[in-house]
Amino acid sequence: MKGQISVKTENIFPIIKQFLYSDHDIFLREIVSNAVDATMKLRTLASLGQYNKAIGEDTIDILLDKKKKTLSIIDRGIGMTKEEVEKYITNIALSGAEEFIEKFKGKNAEQAAELIGHFGLGFFSSFMVSDKVEIDTLSYLAETNENSDIKPVHWVCDGSEEYEIEEGKWKERGTKITMHIAKESEEFLEESKILDLLKKYCRFMPVTIRFGKEKVWVDDDNKKDKDGKPERVQKEQDRIINNTNPLWKRKPAELTDEDYKAFYRELYPMSFDEPLFHIHLNVDYPFNLTGILFFPKIQKNIEPTRDKIQLYCNQVFVTDSVEGVVPEYMMLLRGVLDSPDIPLNVSRSYLQSDANVKKIAAHISKKVADKLEEISNNNHEEFEKKFEDLRIFIEYGMLSDEKFCDKMEKIFLYRNMDNNFFTFNDYKKKIELLQTDKDKRIIILYTSAPDEQYSYIQTAKDKGYDVLIMDGILDNHFVNLIEQREKNIHFARIDSDVIEKLICKDEEIPSKLSKEQCDKLKQLVEAVVDKQIYNVKTESLEETAKPMTITQDEYVRRMKQMYEMGGSPMAALYGNMPNTYNLVVNVNNPLIVKALDMSEVESQTKILSQLKDLALLSQGLLKGKELDDFISRSEHLIEI
Ligand code: ADP
Repeated sequence: MKGQISVKTENIFPIIKQFLYSDHDIFLREIVSNAVDATMKLRTLASLGQYNKAIGEDTIDILLDKKKKTLSIIDRGIGMTKEEVEKYITNIALSGAEEFIEKFKGKNAEQAAELIGHFGLGFFSSFMVSDKVEIDTLSYLAETNENSDIKPVHWVCDGSEEYEIEEGKWKERGTKITMHIAKESEEFLEESKILDLLKKYCRFMPVTIRFGKEKVWVDDDNKKDKDGKPERVQKEQDRIINNTNPLWKRKPAELTDEDYKAFYRELYPMSFDEPLFHIHLNVDYPFNLTGILFFPKIQKNIEPTRDKIQLYCNQVFVTDSVEGVVPEYMMLLRGVLDSPDIPLNVSRSYLQSDANVKKIAAHISKKVADKLEEISNNNHEEFEKKFEDLRIFIEYGMLSDEKFCDKMEKIFLYRNMDNNFFTFNDYKKKIELLQTDKDKRIIILYTSAPDEQYSYIQTAKDKGYDVLIMDGILDNHFVNLIEQREKNIHFARIDSDVIEKLICKDEEIPSKLSKEQCDKLKQLVEAVVDKQIYNVKTESLEETAKPMTITQDEYVRRMKQMYEMGGSPMAALYGNMPNTYNLVVNVNNPLIVKALDMSEVESQTKILSQLKDLALLSQGLLKGKELDDFISRSEHLIEI
């Protein structure tokens, strides 16, 4: 019998081909998940007592025939009667298609793809890669009712509006979909291509999927070598491509840490690090969500991760670009999310405004915060040990999510130069009496590079002050955040001023030089530096403090750094300015006093230049001609 597909306006197939073009691969997911659905339906009927034959083996077979240029998917599910084929395959899908075409007019590709998903054109995606598709099917009803007149059905369509339907020869319960792969889609006749697709989309589907045979090496216990070891022999076995009972569907109580680690390796075979810990998600109200999230070790420099969170819908892989579904900082995590409540075939902008998606995102970040709190409270030692690996993630979360920040602020750990960890409150208690500035603010000293800032750190430590290590790429922003949230504290990088200025003591150090002498000294130093870059200041510091020190104003530096990281427009103002520094001259240092005492300006200049160059050198700022002059001058000084 011939039928006419009732799409009047236009032909659906060119549209499907055109708009799903970028993602032809999904046809296999659609056909295999239909086969899975049909099998699960039969299992459900059996469990309800509505199918009382033995189900038997219900593996789904994927067959590739290169000669005939066909790819077939065979399931042992409920099958379809003739009426069902007409209703579900030809009519429902295509009445959807008709509506689709109506709505489709004037839409762009993304919206079109969204509509295709919406109208459930899953089966018809097979025409993206086929000239002709055949269905052979036998409904389970033929088995349950011996006398029934239910016969196998054969349906064939070449992608035009016409199809044929007749009595078929398929003897087994279930359905075989045969796709005659089109010339321009011959890549889908390659075994490796199909294997890749199956592994990508079907890896955790709940029904066993078999794709031909594979050769494996096994121990043969019957054949032992002279040492009594079993011989390795090659054996052919069914190639099963999926794990039907993935870990996230199982009960956490039944699972060990090792199970989770093994699952992590299964998900990311190319990842060598072990995850730090995991969260097993299981929600059934007000939305459905299962999954496992892993905390990986996050490198200091966040790299675009290759091992991303994977999104599933009832164990069918959907995507690993989860932007919009989870908060951005959560994308540093790994693992699996499975929810039938995430609208899967829709555009990103739609996803972000979807109420369920918002709830899911909020739920996930709460769970993550709870987990971190739990570890911090119950196993603080472990938390400390893993903190540096978690740090960027937590900072990122705190910077982007206020609720997350409220919780994390209490448990976030600050590490000092002695490698001790402190919560904010503990740290504040430790330093609040000792480290204050002239405005009575509590000053948190930090270093962003312990090696480069060594001498500044040492100077501070000699005075009994504590220095934190804040060397992560987000620390600049993080420090701003904490200053905004905490009253009366200020973070000062250890080289942002001389220590006597950063932390103020009540008693002032008397100056050995008069005001006039200081002014003269300032003039002399200004004459030997580039005034565009260096702002010369004279300060009355301890005798033992360095004669000259380079510092960079905390505020200016932060602005510049933020600009470099793509910060605010305000920061852009600073970003465009050249780097500027302070050159602090210690008027009490004996070398400075001595230089000023010299009678000849030439000698004074020589000494001050040398001291200035040493200060620049220690900060890696001495370059080009200046460096060359310094070397010549040093050689000359050695001579005399
Ligand atoms: P969707 O799967 O979104 O409903 P499809 O176009 O993929 O849309 O399939 C339409 C319908 O055809 C299915 O809902 C199902 O009733 C029927 N169907 C498709 N494939 C099979 C199959 N392998 N076995 C039994 N029924 C099937």
